Amino acid sequence: MTREEPVGVVGAIIPWNYPILMASWKLGPALATGCTILLKPAEQTPLTALYLGALAKEVLWWSYVAGFPAGVVNILPGYGPTAGAAIAAHHEINKVAFTGSTEVGRLIAAASGTSNLKRVSLELGGKSPLVIFDDCNLDEAVEIAHNAIFANHGQNCCAGSRTFVQEGIYDRFVKKAKEMAAAKKVGDPFEEGTAQGPQIDETQFKKILELIESGKREGAKLECGGGPAAEVGYFIKPTVFSGVTDKMRIAREEIFGPVQQILKFKTFDEAVMRANDTQYGLAAGIVTNNIDKALMFAQSVHAGSVWVNCYDIVIPQAPFGGFKSSGYGRELGEDSLKEYLEVKTITMRVPMKSS
Ligand code: NAP
Ligand code: MG
Repeated sequence: MTREEPVGVVGAIIPWNYPILMASWKLGPALATGCTILLKPAEQTPLTALYLGALAKEVLWWSYVAGFPAGVVNILPGYGPTAGAAIAAHHEINKVAFTGSTEVGRLIAAASGTSNLKRVSLELGGKSPLVIFDDCNLDEAVEIAHNAIFANHGQNCCAGSRTFVQEGIYDRFVKKAKEMAAAKKVGDPFEEGTAQGPQIDETQFKKILELIESGKREGAKLECGGGPAAEVGYFIKPTVFSGVTDKMRIAREEIFGPVQQILKFKTFDEAVMRANDTQYGLAAGIVTNNIDKALMFAQSVHAGSVWVNCYDIVIPQAPFGGFKSSGYGRELGEDSLKEYLEVKTITMRVPMKSS
């Protein structure tokens, strides 16, 4: 017979871009499978996790559903190179679930290898393609592509950050994409009508601006935006580049900001080849009215999630994770539980004679 047993003590290291979502994607399956968990939030956003910790300590005398035994849920705020690295190298932590940059993901995998070979699941960055065919409804496609990149100010691991548009509709698409981005209201998120607030911190702010400058230098056409949106604060104008080519840095590196790259293509095969020409493989999208194209694309693209005529639809029941350097392991869905379980095979000899 076989049994599935909890892997044991789980270390979870999470990023800042979706503080409660990232915490719950790790707490949920770890606790459901009977593991204990030590969660390290990102330096920029520790409060959400600490509040969850306070809730976990509450003992509700009238309820059987909340309240955890001491030691089951542990929140450990701290910096990556110290607290995070200590988790990754610890000999009594049996698994690390990590979400963040590919660079740090490599460090986590290496620390597992040189310590106790703890199980590792990695949800890393992306440079996800969204391919738009000229048989689509143009207005719908522009809106899907806009939300694919600008949601959460572009601070989204599966952001559709390479918008491939077929040549027949390319010019009209660029015009509408530019209008939509330029109309976006940037400012105080608590103000009515604001659609985009500041980026998370100065490091990210500067990194995004540096990549925007590289786009201008390397010859992409700046359609709108292209710099800070205010004199103070980390606000960046929604930026659209057209005429982007595959080798430009803005087409290869994860920007993690409100910057749309529009690339032109001619044929289906070319689109698939160029979509796959990246170290990443987190997500991909296609907009078309042709079901054969959609299914052929979904089979051919190297990505853990593929969206057809929509984008960024993430639901708790469906597994989420990356191909290639976007990581390994899956979160959400039944697959996520496997990441927290060890399979044990028990083989029993039955005596031939009774004594
Ligand atoms: P990051 O450095 O990978 O941070 C993610 C988590 O790992 C944080 O909790 C961080 O701690 C921790 N960490 C950092 N160095 C570590 C180490 N040596 N050992 C163990 N843990 C360590 O990501 P970031 O600095 O927040 O952002 C950098 C880039 O990562 C972004 O520009 C973006 O491209 C990418 N990113 C991707 C995702 C995603 O969802 N896939 C999310 C966020 C960022 P502290 O930060 O608290 O020190
Ligand atoms: Mg950091």
